[in-house]
Amino acid sequence: MKHLDPTLQPVFEEILARNPGEAEFHQATRELLDSLGPVVARHPEYTDAAIIRRVCEPERQIIFRVPWVDDAGQVQLNRGFRVEFNSALGPYKGGLRFHPSVYLGIIKFLGFEQIFKNALTGMPIGGGKGGSDFDPKGRSDAEVMRFCQSFMTELYRHIGEYTDVPAGDIGVGGREIGYLFGQYKRITNRYESGVLTGKGIGWGGSLVRTEATGYGTVFFAGEILKARGSSFDGKTVVVSGSGNVATYAAEKAAALGATVIACSDSSGYVVDEKGLDLDLLKEVKQVRRERLSSYAEARESARFVATTTGGAVWDVPCDIALPCATQNELDGDHALALVRNGCTVVAEGANMPCTPEAVKVFAEAGVAFAPGKAANAGGVATSALEMQQNASRDSWSFAHTEARLEEIMVGIHARCLETADTYGAPGNYVAGANIAGFIQVADAMLALGVI
Ligand code: NDP
Repeated sequence: MKHLDPTLQPVFEEILARNPGEAEFHQATRELLDSLGPVVARHPEYTDAAIIRRVCEPERQIIFRVPWVDDAGQVQLNRGFRVEFNSALGPYKGGLRFHPSVYLGIIKFLGFEQIFKNALTGMPIGGGKGGSDFDPKGRSDAEVMRFCQSFMTELYRHIGEYTDVPAGDIGVGGREIGYLFGQYKRITNRYESGVLTGKGIGWGGSLVRTEATGYGTVFFAGEILKARGSSFDGKTVVVSGSGNVATYAAEKAAALGATVIACSDSSGYVVDEKGLDLDLLKEVKQVRRERLSSYAEARESARFVATTTGGAVWDVPCDIALPCATQNELDGDHALALVRNGCTVVAEGANMPCTPEAVKVFAEAGVAFAPGKAANAGGVATSALEMQQNASRDSWSFAHTEARLEEIMVGIHARCLETADTYGAPGNYVAGANIAGFIQVADAMLALGVI
């Protein structure tokens, strides 16, 4: 690990001491601090006002009990979280994750990333994140509904369209947002559409929100390719995951002329040299909620490789890799395999899917690497567009909303490159994203005083 700037080392040590046992949060803060050396050198006012120390401390952390009754009549117990990290730019904004691995450290890492991602979009939104260790897998719709209602029965008092606006993430899609919004509406007796994003199209949702994170990631990767005189056309692409982000990243990459030959879930991966059949993938994962092996069973050109074999989707040779599943899913060895097989662009659709070792491998091999806080910002940007539509009681067409999304992603790409140039790291998207996002938040925090 490279040495931190001497001004930043004590800040990182303080983070480690104040947040014991939160490995993902340590990783995310360290990654930001790694980029900030040239910033503190140029802006002593940030250090004087303890901006970096303050931005690493959540404004508020809420942890609550979520009891609910399963279909067998048994009482089940989960833990709910909402970390309201930073509201210098606007109301806290960030998704809810329902996954058994969720604990405070994961929610804090996600909330921290969200601050700078949201700043990069240029929209007036702060950063937050929440979720629960509830596992929706294998649960009936009725069980998911009762869980969501219990979760919202506590969460409702902390959120609001001017306070904190949650959305989806892993394990939280349209079904869950519906149950959560229904309970919020019932408790408050207000049809406050702007309190949650990712709503259904018929009741306050925005066209393109479902597709936005995946599409946005591909728009960002497309800009990287363009800067290198290339495009998606004729390229092979591997995505990881087969949920919301992965599916729509695959859809847009295919629409731009690429062949998407592999995707994964936690049980394994499928390789389909003919290109993924996305209708079948959606049917298997979103409608039937089955494992990925069902895709291979239904399609002759596909084969399924189970996680238990020890292989990974990154073993499949490709030109472009889009990790879209979860944090730390692509390590140094996976990165070496990708480089060996000729991959030249990696764009993170998920949050922090590449380990620091993997990022180092990409940098050394000259692979263009786009960090999630820039590449997957299209999801939250379109959530902000959904809030705009809710506020004006309007709904925009698919084409208009997609054009706005693309414009935002092109803008973030340009801003990352310009900032990287200005701070002596040309072509480095990690430095560009971290510095541009941080400066926007830091300047707002300076203006708002010590709060
Ligand atoms: P989904 O729940 O729709 O899909 C998640 C996918 O990742 C599934 O295929 C799941 O497999 C797989 N996955 C999850 N955990 C693991 C694990 N521990 N090991 C292997 N595979 C795993 O989530 P999203 O697509 O919404 O989110 C994916 C990533 O994108 C997350 O990092 C999220 O934070 C990030 N993101 C999402 C945004 C959004 O708008 N939804 C916005 C910005 C970022 P399985 O089905 O087996 O669980």
